[in-house]
Amino acid sequence: MSGDRAERAEAVLEIDLAGIVANWRLLARRVEPARCAGVVKADAYGLGAPRVSAALAAAGCRLFFVATLDEGMALRGALPACCEIAVLNGPAPGSAEEFVSHRLIPVLNEPGQIATWAVASHRHGGPAAMLHVDTGMARLGLTLPEFEALADAEPYEPGEIRWRALISHLACADHPGHPLNNLQRERFTSARSRLRGVPASLAASSGIFLGPAFHYDFVRPGAALYGVNPQPGSPNPMRQIVRLKVRILQVREVDRGDPVGYGAAHVMDHPGRLATVAIGYADGWLRSLSHRGSGRLGGTRVPLIGRVSMDLAIFDVSAVDPALARPGGSIELLDDDYGLDAAATDAGTIGYEILTALGRRYHRVYRDEPHRC
Ligand SMILES: *Cc1c(COP(=O)(O)O)cnc(C)c1O
Repeated sequence: MSGDRAERAEAVLEIDLAGIVANWRLLARRVEPARCAGVVKADAYGLGAPRVSAALAAAGCRLFFVATLDEGMALRGALPACCEIAVLNGPAPGSAEEFVSHRLIPVLNEPGQIATWAVASHRHGGPAAMLHVDTGMARLGLTLPEFEALADAEPYEPGEIRWRALISHLACADHPGHPLNNLQRERFTSARSRLRGVPASLAASSGIFLGPAFHYDFVRPGAALYGVNPQPGSPNPMRQIVRLKVRILQVREVDRGDPVGYGAAHVMDHPGRLATVAIGYADGWLRSLSHRGSGRLGGTRVPLIGRVSMDLAIFDVSAVDPALARPGGSIELLDDDYGLDAAATDAGTIGYEILTALGRRYHRVYRDEPHRC
């Protein structure tokens, strides 16, 4: 990207790759001797899967998870051959050949996917797959009776499915006291004992913080790598890795009683100054932040007032030095002090949604990009 583009950008999203790597290392150390994979589905939660994954690979991450075959195919070329890529949604009918030719590991979630893969596996000399067992979430994965039936039939004949891992997913890991956590762990431990020698993985970001009993052979963090707090309600151990700042397009003086924005949904209760910035719900600055969000300008909190429009939002900058609050200046929307979780609280959602909604129109700047390996 040219400097010109950065100069005229209306919104700039800064992504700290070194910070993502630092977050991965912190988790990897915490779970030793278990290994730490990296979840980069949904384009690394919106931050750019090829660049994020290359940075993680350079730091030593060797196993990556995406959601779909298309994501896996797009990622394959960005990663060294020593890296494995697993696809959580598994193979759609007719897609097994593409998994094989792109060296992608399907996660098999239901009996039909297993049957599909058994055929491909036989034809191609046993490429690996992961098996997902549902231990209490009712989302993806074999039911416990389906798993028992499969385990009874193991080991398969040579040329049938070679299991790279057995995985399951926790429903309530962000609530450490929830009884489902231990129930899922017990079910998973017993499932694992039926597939001897197959690496096991239960924990995602929050599950890592439930303790070593949840770590098994490898863990699968996504959100925590990107700065979302894996332990809501406790101090966040992860580094903030996104910064978002947005340009002020126009500043105006308003009087007490003046209506502001669509629906005249805000009426000024004091005379003041408003700044209109180039970000809206089409950029993932959610409409539920209307009347509730805030930005920072010269270190001062500036409240978002009125409704968020598609491409615009309005901030009350009355408290800020007019020399700063001027067209061409910029308001910070995400930074170290007001991060994904703070924005999520204001929007009535979770940090995951703020992150994955971050807009495609932003000019993206990657800090500390490592060399490709
Ligand atoms: C998304 C996902 C993860 C990563 O979850 P985070 O909470 O973002 O760490 C891990 N495993 C599975 C099966 C997932 O769907």
